[in-house]
Amino acid sequence: MENKEKIGGAVSIDTDSVDMYYKSIYGKEIRENNITYGVLIPRFLEILRRKQIKATFFIIGKHLKNRKNQEILRQVAKEGHELANHTYSHPKNFSSLTKEQKEQEIAACEDIIYKHIGVKTVGFRAPEWDIDDESIQILEKRGYLYDSSLYPSLFGIMNSVFQLIRRHKAKFDFRVLQYPLEAYHPSATGLGRKGDLNIIEFPVSAVPVFRLPFHGTFLFWTRSMGLFRCSLNAIARKNQSLNYILHTLELLDDDTFPDLKHPSLSLPLKARQGIYMEILDEMKKRYKLSTIKSCLLNNEGLRI
Ligand SMILES: [Zn+2]
Repeated sequence: MENKEKIGGAVSIDTDSVDMYYKSIYGKEIRENNITYGVLIPRFLEILRRKQIKATFFIIGKHLKNRKNQEILRQVAKEGHELANHTYSHPKNFSSLTKEQKEQEIAACEDIIYKHIGVKTVGFRAPEWDIDDESIQILEKRGYLYDSSLYPSLFGIMNSVFQLIRRHKAKFDFRVLQYPLEAYHPSATGLGRKGDLNIIEFPVSAVPVFRLPFHGTFLFWTRSMGLFRCSLNAIARKNQSLNYILHTLELLDDDTFPDLKHPSLSLPLKARQGIYMEILDEMKKRYKLSTIKSCLLNNEGLRI
């Protein structure tokens, strides 16, 4: 098995802060006292260090107004992880913003990361995976290597149902279930089709055929390592590159925010950390894990 060259794969971490969850789930303003940067990101670094994995952190620009956060992010970059753009303020319904607002969100995040960390971001992920053709054009124009906002799985449909229950606007786009599962150059006229753009779309991994979601929160929701292994095997068997997402919230302490309901928080922190160690080992057995950037640069099926 070791003789066979492993396929490339990437683990990424969306650094949405705890106050953002309160805002989006309960419409409530809270102060999280920098737990995301001060406690959660260092916990991720520790696990990645132990597993010797380089990952991609999707950064929200406004968090870098805080000087301590800048220091922590410098450490993240120093340890070889990639910093990517997750907009400046993580607005809801990103795709419904005007073209100017979208560009502003992308540029402001890019600028603040460059200003404080000295890193030019080449990757983007839209808040809540809400991407559209216009945003891709903006990223293409700005010379981005990739976007990683499409999630061609049933999760989009499930998420839209949750949004409706929360009385938020929701879009139902069933076409997403036919979008490619592998990294590809999209078409200028339709993000879901292969085409001539230079930018690469690297969809979040989903299980072939059934299009079952495959990311950290979904694992905590199903709590099934069996389903995780079956899904990972099905994806690896198709030689699909891996694009697995974790969220900083998943390593939150047990009782800091007792009223916050989230699938990952029904398990004690120790158990969640154990699950992370186990799934990273499983992924490492089948994939050569790296940052999204280097995973794509080493993908010979792409025009780079
Ligand atoms: Zn996010």
